[in-house]
Amino acid sequence: MPAPRNKKTSSVYDIRLQPFRDAVEYSAIGIATVGLDGSWITLNEALCNLLGYTQKELLGRTFQDVTYPDDLNADLEKVRQMLAGELTHYHMEKRYIHKDGHIIWIILSVSLVRDKEREPLYFVSQIQDITQRKKVADELATSAGLLKEFIKNTPAAIAMCDRDMNYLHVSDRWLLAYGVDRDSIIGHSHYDLFPHQSERWNKIYERVLEGKPEGCAEDELPPCPDGTPVWFNWELLPWHNAKGEVGGLIQFNQNVTQQVLAKQELERLIQDLERSNSELEQFAYVASHDMQEPLRAVAGCAEILKSRFGNQLGESADELISHIVDGASRMQGLINDLLQISQVSSQASPFETVDANEACRAALLNLDALIKKSAASIELTNLPDVMGDRTQISQIFQNLISNALKYRQEEAPQVTIKATKVNNCWEFAVTDNGIGIAPEFHHKIFGIFQRLHTRNDYPGTGIGLALCKKIIERHSGEIWLKSSLGKGATFYFTLPQN
Ligand code: ADP
Repeated sequence: MPAPRNKKTSSVYDIRLQPFRDAVEYSAIGIATVGLDGSWITLNEALCNLLGYTQKELLGRTFQDVTYPDDLNADLEKVRQMLAGELTHYHMEKRYIHKDGHIIWIILSVSLVRDKEREPLYFVSQIQDITQRKKVADELATSAGLLKEFIKNTPAAIAMCDRDMNYLHVSDRWLLAYGVDRDSIIGHSHYDLFPHQSERWNKIYERVLEGKPEGCAEDELPPCPDGTPVWFNWELLPWHNAKGEVGGLIQFNQNVTQQVLAKQELERLIQDLERSNSELEQFAYVASHDMQEPLRAVAGCAEILKSRFGNQLGESADELISHIVDGASRMQGLINDLLQISQVSSQASPFETVDANEACRAALLNLDALIKKSAASIELTNLPDVMGDRTQISQIFQNLISNALKYRQEEAPQVTIKATKVNNCWEFAVTDNGIGIAPEFHHKIFGIFQRLHTRNDYPGTGIGLALCKKIIERHSGEIWLKSSLGKGATFYFTLPQN
């Protein structure tokens, strides 16, 4: 770069100055001398590269030409102050415009060279490119801002502390939960804010700051001053800095008192229900068991009356006696049904692997006479193994198949029994070609003693389907049907897979 001309230059002087000239010329930062009007007088290669111009192009221009317009006044003000002797030199961050139009961030350091009479001669400027540093700083600021915003608006009580437990960031929910404002917490130490914190928590913080996360889904904390219990779901996680060291911890808190109280209430209700259910079952068992005795006596006496004094007491007495006999035997039937219902839970066997083919065949064996009498055809496709109570599963098949035979039409009954796998259970289907059931009665028929026919039309007590439902519910399954009047019926039920 051409040096400002000095008439007194001697060759010795030149040799002494050469190293400095080289240092300027080959410097990695831009160096220039600038005239008092702002025109470039000398400039090195680094500055040309920075601005994208050749030396020749720049020598015809001023620094004002390449300065970003918004930054010009600040620079000119410094120049003015320096010329007025208020400053000996200045540093500033400003922007240049590259020849191709993009913006370059620089740090400018300027000093003023004066002659012997203190008259200003020219400026010496050093220009360092900080575009990349600025970009990184901007990106950092953006991501720090994003993090701050993210934590602030997170829909949970979250706080971030450094290693000394000073609060760095907190969410709005955190402020709400602790009833504090942002300014009184950010930058303050947790230990100052909560000086009476128990030793337990201090130990927990220590462990987390050693890098071990901790948490508790339902932690019962010391109750409120009014004695109301408080539960928190909390988690403490260490966070790591760029070097991989624990930089502090992140706290997550959630007041779960309402949920815990609701759960406790639910558990209490379930226990109450189980207790009253088992009391009811016990009552039904005892009542039906104990009632059998006097009922047997009534039925026995009525039978004796009938056999000893039949045809002797007159027609109306005979009729009354057969009413008593009939009533007593119906009552015995009903009591037996009630007993069966109460025994689904009280006399249940533990679950085991049950071959549904065997359970179904055992039921068919019990119904053999009825099947033969009705000339029914029974189609049994290969059934799976299930988990359950062998006797009770057989009972389901027996009740459904006997209904299929009982509620028949003119033609011989046709019954098919199938099973398909649905999710984690087996879905069984017992289909018949009988009288069918109108859809509005589909729910009714599963109730105890609910029937759609009189005993004269079809014998029965209305307990079979209720019993099936109770057994299936004990196996965590469901029972339902598809049917319409006159078009047969399919009863579906689910049982757990083996
Ligand atoms: P019950 O057969 O002793 O009446 P259930 O509880 O087994 O008792 O059946 C209840 C009612 O559901 C029956 O009275 C009958 O009206 C109807 N029902 C049950 N199964 C069938 C079927 N396969 N086809 C038509 N109706 C049926």
